[in-house]
Amino acid sequence: MLPKKKILLLTTGGTIASLPGGDGLEPHRSEVMEREINQLRTYYDIIVDDVMCLDSSNIRPEEWQLIARRIFQERSGYDGIVVSHGTDTMAYTASAVTFMLPNIDLPVVFTGSQLPLTDMLSDGPDNLRTAFAMAASGHPGVFLAFDRKVMLGCRAVKVRASGFSAFESVNARYAAQVSNRGLVVDSRVLPVSRGEPALRPEISRDVFLLKLTPGLNPAVFEMLAAMGYRGIVIEAFGLGGVNVLHRGLRGIRRAVEDGISVVVTTQCLYDSANLEVYQVGSKLLELGVIQGRDMTSEAAMTKLMWAIGQGMSQEEISDLFQKNLAGEVTQMQNAK
Ligand code: ASP
Repeated sequence: MLPKKKILLLTTGGTIASLPGGDGLEPHRSEVMEREINQLRTYYDIIVDDVMCLDSSNIRPEEWQLIARRIFQERSGYDGIVVSHGTDTMAYTASAVTFMLPNIDLPVVFTGSQLPLTDMLSDGPDNLRTAFAMAASGHPGVFLAFDRKVMLGCRAVKVRASGFSAFESVNARYAAQVSNRGLVVDSRVLPVSRGEPALRPEISRDVFLLKLTPGLNPAVFEMLAAMGYRGIVIEAFGLGGVNVLHRGLRGIRRAVEDGISVVVTTQCLYDSANLEVYQVGSKLLELGVIQGRDMTSEAAMTKLMWAIGQGMSQEEISDLFQKNLAGEVTQMQNAK
């Protein structure tokens, strides 16, 4: 018999590890996951490390850094790493960790559940099993496993507040799916390593995500500049339209001139923003805004936070957004 694959389980809290408390569900340490972990020990050699114990609504960039550091430092000696996490902000964490760990050399798989593991009908056992199978697959990258599907962490979006099929891979194929053949991996989706694995955890908090609404007061951009924001991701309309009349562009122009990196994505969940199609988009390009194309808002936000954290200039950030680092964007030249 082949030796069991060695998997590290990093727990961070979330519903999967929750028990009912006086004010509702509260995350606990891994003891509440013990029964399920013991069952998985039939298949894998598992070490558990409780990194934190938080509802993911309380997870901040500092916690992303802690998780990335722990993965990087502890990865040798393991075939793969599973990170259990609350579902609410898991797409942000998985995306941020993707950028913080370029060329990661083992599978890192985030997962969680909509019903606590202590509930007899929990989706947690299934999600953990898919995550462990991906972690043992030998395919490096940062992934998110949910409802028998595995996607790139930087493509994941939480699309349901309570349904079991809570995550989708947006504008990208699934990296793997469970079928009657077991875990079927789509090698076309897997990230390509371009060098040595590295830990680059520096990240800026000074990025604002703004959903455009009809009639938005353009002064909001000046307020953001005055508050010290260094990056703005605008979820624009459709293919990337903004209000170009009524002095609508004034605030964005000022922000770019003030050195703020402005990335424009679409508020539509699917397909790509393309600022070249309409006048209401191309005006933005003239101002020097950056195209977010088909990136999720989570990926655009965390990529911009990371780029600013790495000390990049406005021009370097603009160049970085022309590159596909880990599968977060399509139709781009590959990063060197
Ligand atoms: N509020 C929980 C969390 O994100 C939801 C979940 O885990 O499903 O931590």
